[in-house]
Amino acid sequence: MTLTCEIRRNGGPDVLEWIETDPGDPGPGEVRIRHHAVGLNYIDVYHRTGLYPLPLPSGIGLEAAGEITAIGDGVSDLAVGDRVAYASAPLGAYAEERLMPADRVVPLPDTVDARSAAALMLKGLTAHFLLFRTFAVQPGQRVLVHAAAGGVGYLLCRWATHLGATVIGTAGSRDKAAIAREAGCAEVIQYRDGNVATQVRRAAGKRGVDVVYDGVGAATFQDSLDSLAPLGMMVSFGNASGAVPAFEPSELARRGSLFFTRPSLLDYTRERSDLLAGASALFEALSAGTLSARIDQEYPLKQAARAHRALEARKTTGASLLIPG
Ligand code: NDP
Repeated sequence: MTLTCEIRRNGGPDVLEWIETDPGDPGPGEVRIRHHAVGLNYIDVYHRTGLYPLPLPSGIGLEAAGEITAIGDGVSDLAVGDRVAYASAPLGAYAEERLMPADRVVPLPDTVDARSAAALMLKGLTAHFLLFRTFAVQPGQRVLVHAAAGGVGYLLCRWATHLGATVIGTAGSRDKAAIAREAGCAEVIQYRDGNVATQVRRAAGKRGVDVVYDGVGAATFQDSLDSLAPLGMMVSFGNASGAVPAFEPSELARRGSLFFTRPSLLDYTRERSDLLAGASALFEALSAGTLSARIDQEYPLKQAARAHRALEARKTTGASLLIPG
């Protein structure tokens, strides 16, 4: 039997329930994985609260790393004992052991330990597709990253700086601003100092930035549009402060023929070849020291509710892990 988290209704962190289940034997095309570390992501909050509706009851969690304990028929490229990680549906990563489709699982190189993998897979694959595919950042471009000391934000800043961009970050506190600077930001704006767009233009030059990576959502949306140079791209990839409200397409024209996109990791890794290419770029960046797994919070798996409270209260920086007992 294995400990698994289930949600039967949407709500606060208290709706995370722990049950003992038998993960069972893997069916065709599946593997069973014993988790060594589970990644906490803001999307887990959206699933819990119902912002992203799920059929209930449901498991929760999309990211973990561990070891294969059984393989199903037809799985030829993975074996029992292999060290693997994933950042994918089906939900259910908050568990000691679980079944996963083998084609969603990535083998880990010897150089990447389970904790780093669980901290980096979902957030790092996201940083990769945002910087290389959604808007391919070029040397000399100006980039605005919101929540720059957060899980995805920190990696975006490190990687974009490495690509030769000038990165401007936003952060919710002085301590977070220091982390964002360490991640490579040329300037860090604390939202509390007011008018973010004016400050961005002061830092980036009057024209504004070429791209905004905005995972904060409702609270930063207008400032993000107001910070962009003509023909710039607004990448709205999350809603930590609430969903972005509906807006008129003419808003984009009025600010200089801006582009707007709302991308999802799911679509960028739907093809296994894309998943493996993203993971390979991520592991290379880790080996080269371009990126590091910044694990600032660790909780026992069963204390996932405490981890959710901290994430929602903006008390975390970098990545948070849940560790099975
Ligand atoms: P973070 O570690 O970045 O945590 C969220 C951060 O958002 C907080 O630390 C806080 O930083 C900032 N924030 C601003 N306003 C609020 C608010 N009202 N409530 C809570 N947080 C707020 O989380 P993740 O790295 O897990 O995710 C970052 C974003 O990326 C999320 O929106 C997530 O959904 C999105 N995402 C999207 C993906 C996609 O495929 N589209 C994939 C992965 C993540 P500060 O205090 O500095 O403002």
